[in-house]
Amino acid sequence: MQPTELIPEAWRAPAARMADALRTLDRVIIAGHVNPDGDALGSVAAMGCLLRGLGKECVLYSKSGVPPYLGFLPLPGTMHDSLQRLPFRPVAAVLLDCGEPHRLGDELEKALPGLTGVNIDHHLGSEGMGTLDNWIEPRAAATAQLVAYVAISAGIPLEGKLGQALALGLITDTGGFAHGNTSAAVLHLAAHLVDRGCDIALLRQQLENCWSMGRMRLWARLMERIQLLADGTLAFCAVRLDDLQSCGATKEDLEGFVEQMRRLAGVRAAALLREDAPGVHKFSLRSFGETDVRAAAATLGGGGHRNAAGGTLRMEAAQAAETLIKAVAAVL
Ligand code: 5GP
Ligand code: MN
Repeated sequence: MQPTELIPEAWRAPAARMADALRTLDRVIIAGHVNPDGDALGSVAAMGCLLRGLGKECVLYSKSGVPPYLGFLPLPGTMHDSLQRLPFRPVAAVLLDCGEPHRLGDELEKALPGLTGVNIDHHLGSEGMGTLDNWIEPRAAATAQLVAYVAISAGIPLEGKLGQALALGLITDTGGFAHGNTSAAVLHLAAHLVDRGCDIALLRQQLENCWSMGRMRLWARLMERIQLLADGTLAFCAVRLDDLQSCGATKEDLEGFVEQMRRLAGVRAAALLREDAPGVHKFSLRSFGETDVRAAAATLGGGGHRNAAGGTLRMEAAQAAETLIKAVAAVL
């Protein structure tokens, strides 16, 4: 199979258009959403490889840095966490896995109007923040999938750091090639990455088998706390700041926990509420099939995908729990 044949018919034109748009850019800042997950980080790293391959000057940016559990990914350069200390003044931005300026972090959100923008994302409801061009494709399993197609269109081989970064994005957003978004196209792309030398087993090992005792203690405590609501169709759990502190865990240690809640038989939606600061609570929702938790998140100012969504509630813990449970129960 030729690499271009990996791109689904309908996406060949936008992928080529994006490659053309990238060729016109230089001095680029590449960024994804704050608190990056594997798809955001993988997409940013892959785009760095792509732009370097096109001979462009570029920097990687993440206001919140790289979470320690993703620290194993080899990056094509330094990940900058401040616009004040960049090696050059960017004139263009490539924005990935993010559809709203505020999710880039306040610093880049403020600088955005002065930058020529290209936005590639797969979130339903993404506005398209790019001033030059946008590719918003909610049917894509991961933003990394779209970035891979742009790289192919640009004639860049999907190997080395680029291949690893793309595989991390695919693995993260498909739950290890298991979620409903794992299309044949995703599997063909993954097979191509493996063909080009990407070690998926090693990636899974680095990603999965890295738990601290703090994380293990936290999960043990929270598993005991899960409540079954809405006639057993909703699993709910709330995490307080002092849970993290007393277990010696960080908020990143919660990554993956909400998926465990969904494992309960009969549960159609899982809701995890995490206190980030007094009066500030981040929520994560997961579902399966037709159950649309994005709709629930959207009523609370959040967003995401039908089966994986999130947002932030600015209110007291008890009120946040009640508000979240009510919103999710309404879509069940
Ligand atoms: P997670 O629960 O893993 O943080 O996020 C699940 C999904 O919801 C991801 O696709 C993420 O981008 C999206 N999401 C999480 N928080 C927000 C938010 O505050 N706003 C929007 N629009 N999407 C979010
Ligand atoms: Mn994503």
